[in-house]
Amino acid sequence: MSATSTHDGIVYANAKELLAAIEPASGGREISDPATGDIVGRVAEGTVADLDAAVERAKAAQPGWDALGHAERRRLLNAAADAIEANAEALAELLSREQGKPLNGPNARFEVGGAAAWLRAATAYDVDPEVVVDDGETYAVKHYRALGVVGAIGPWNWPMMISIWQLAPSLRMGNTVVLKPSEYTPLSVVALVHVLNQVLPAEVLHVIPGGREVGERVAEHPLIDKIMFTGSTSTGKAIIRSSADTVKRLTMELGGNDAGVVLPDVDAKAIAQDLFWGAFINTGQTCAALKRLYVPEEIYDAVVEALIEVAQQMPMGPGLDEKNVLGPLQNQAQYRIVAELVQDAVDSGAKVLLGANPQSDAAGYFYPTTLIGEIDPNSRLVIEEQFGPALPIIKVKDVEEAIAHANALDVGLGASVWSSDRAKATEVAARLQAGTVWINSHGTIDPRVPFGGAKQSGYGLEFGLDGLKAVAQPQIING
Ligand code: NAD
Repeated sequence: MSATSTHDGIVYANAKELLAAIEPASGGREISDPATGDIVGRVAEGTVADLDAAVERAKAAQPGWDALGHAERRRLLNAAADAIEANAEALAELLSREQGKPLNGPNARFEVGGAAAWLRAATAYDVDPEVVVDDGETYAVKHYRALGVVGAIGPWNWPMMISIWQLAPSLRMGNTVVLKPSEYTPLSVVALVHVLNQVLPAEVLHVIPGGREVGERVAEHPLIDKIMFTGSTSTGKAIIRSSADTVKRLTMELGGNDAGVVLPDVDAKAIAQDLFWGAFINTGQTCAALKRLYVPEEIYDAVVEALIEVAQQMPMGPGLDEKNVLGPLQNQAQYRIVAELVQDAVDSGAKVLLGANPQSDAAGYFYPTTLIGEIDPNSRLVIEEQFGPALPIIKVKDVEEAIAHANALDVGLGASVWSSDRAKATEVAARLQAGTVWINSHGTIDPRVPFGGAKQSGYGLEFGLDGLKAVAQPQIING
């Protein structure tokens, strides 16, 4: 426990103790470790009836939670962040075993730390009424009210952090929350909610692990007022359709295929480390990771060489081994997607710069760090979301060609421009069709800075004051 923590609830020493508190007494579905195939633990899976019951309890609890007011909710959410910090190592260990990401590097401990930080950030703003017109005749004020019950549906790549992104602003604004975690990583979210619920009042925050049918029910449930969804674009479209009958508010954080545009003036060695982590954070399983890199021909070889050098220094292996900073793919389906896209690129004549030689006898879903060069810009590895440790590096003749390729797809979550000339980079950034464009980094998110997609990467903003307003009902009082 940190010296400054005020948490006086239970502190679990390790993942085993934490699991003992959340596993069903008997039965449940076994979850296996993607690095080893070992059983991590059992999850008590919920049904649609369990979801319905949770939503009704959340609905009943909402007026009382709202009535506590902002100051008390802020206090409770900060106490919940203390509870995460007090249990950080146990949470990180469980996350590492279930998701596969290493403890070390920008991975499991980093994610748990981020979860606490984003929870605190949701308490950092006043959401004051805004006087819209006050001209002597009209007096109109915009208020931000609670919406009611928020249904949150999440993915398997950053299960704890993304759950916090969904629940923290929602709770702060006086809503109650029902979470439906990914079927691949339910234990991480159940454990997180268990820790938070040591501090939060009863019935305010629920989690119902379950399959697609539970997610579908969240999307159509008449008592759910808003959906926070993070996942694939195809699932997002299904949710948009099934939420239409109840006109739910939606925040859609969907898939991406982020482009990086390198300008000829870069110092390849100086940017290589940031390029690497932009693409390979969480072993490439990150929504806003760099997924296709466009490099002008005059600097192509230098960038490739520098990236290979950095990539070769990054150990991949089971997450509990402290030396590793890259892990396995989280599940077999994702492993197959990555392997298939790389094979397709190789078959069509692209050059393997590094990796692309998976060991078929390995215990876990390890796919080696892979860099693919001399690749056709229309290759599937470039235009489809690989969501794994395989980066295509596309040679272009100039920045105009890079911009055209970058904007050619129907997704636009993030993008990046790499240059030693800030003004020039900003000009290029303005022409890229993406919700966020980073300059000389990629995917570096901050709880104060709004984040959301363009095009079919979704709509609605998370984080910061915008994120709080997105889980509130604006109400105008006029007169
Ligand atoms: P997914 O869409 O397969 O699943 C996400 C969740 O939706 C799961 O909980 C699943 O059970 C549920 N679900 C599935 N079908 C449903 C339906 N018909 N109705 C309601 N819920 C349903 O996504 P995934 O494979 O877990 O995550 C990977 C994808 O998520 C990638 O495309 C990635 O880019 C994207 N992602 C986006 C962001 C972002 O912020 N934009 C962040 C992380 C991941």
